[in-house]
Amino acid sequence: MTLVQLIEGALAEGRYRVPASEYGIDLIVQPEVTLISASRFTGIPEDLRDQWETDIEGEGGELLLEAAGRSCYQSWHNPAGRTNHEYLRNIIRQGHGSVLEHANYTVYLRGVSRSLTHEMVRHRAGCSYSQLSQRYVDSSEVAFVVPPALFGMEGLLREWARACRATLDSYVALADGLAGVAPDRKKQRECARSVLPNCTETHLVMTANVRAWRHILSLRGSEHAEAEIRRLASRLLEVLSSHVPLFWDYRVGEGPDGIPTVYRVEQD
Ligand SMILES: Cc1cc2nc3c(=O)[nH]c(=O)nc-3n(C[C@H](O)[C@H](O)[C@H](O)COP(=O)(O)OP(=O)(O)OC[C@H]3O[C@@H](n4cnc5c(N)ncnc54)[C@H](O)[C@@H]3O)c2cc1C
Repeated sequence: MTLVQLIEGALAEGRYRVPASEYGIDLIVQPEVTLISASRFTGIPEDLRDQWETDIEGEGGELLLEAAGRSCYQSWHNPAGRTNHEYLRNIIRQGHGSVLEHANYTVYLRGVSRSLTHEMVRHRAGCSYSQLSQRYVDSSEVAFVVPPALFGMEGLLREWARACRATLDSYVALADGLAGVAPDRKKQRECARSVLPNCTETHLVMTANVRAWRHILSLRGSEHAEAEIRRLASRLLEVLSSHVPLFWDYRVGEGPDGIPTVYRVEQD
């Protein structure tokens, strides 16, 4: 089977990783995003709850944010008669961004490259990270993220796969070669990993508050962002907005290279 066929087959089946045994590596064809934690609203003091007029109930982050916002002016009786949605839209319109920092959402990312995570961890404000350790975890069967620009280009894909396989061979040779000299596995791997490419797969657990997620989606979903992280931004928007109704003003479009973009629509 050609690499193009393997990639197309994996995408059609919704898989993020596919073995390419003939080429000696496993391919990553798209990111996998799993929401593993979401802020939960557990209630405000009863006397305030009695005064609070809102249109929704439950435990969602959107209630947490409305409660935080209303605490500022003690506007529990909802003088403007706004729905939760309208209230939060207005908070955003007025630039009262710190209210959005109360709700946090955590994702487990697989099928992303070290170059993508290197860009992602540049986001500091409101974000926390835990990343797979290449010093501790063996990489001899690691997978490689196919750069989206190579999809459909069999000749270049083969060239790329050959290079990935060669680095993996060097990784194993270096780790084995150091086994006698540096008995500590961590010491062997920290040296051997130096030859692994930017497209090596990694895992990242990432927590961010709503304000930070919105900022990240805007920057990393832009058509100026790198293709892999832009593709991730569109998947993040899909996953986050299916759990959290706080991204209503974001849309997915298509970049000039056919890879999705994420953009924000103006509010009235
Ligand atoms: C298309 C693109 C190309 C890029 N190219 C490069 C490149 O070539 N080289 C490179 O080094 N980086 C590059 N970056 C990374 C970029 O410079 C930022 O480091 C990254 O996007 C993180 O965003 P941020 O600074 O908004 O930080 P975040 O941590 O996401 O901060 C969010 C906001 O909080 C505020 N803030 C956070 N920290 C501070 C602070 N210390 N002081 C004051 N305000 C703060 C700022 O308003 C900031 O926008 C690129 C990013 C993009 C999207």
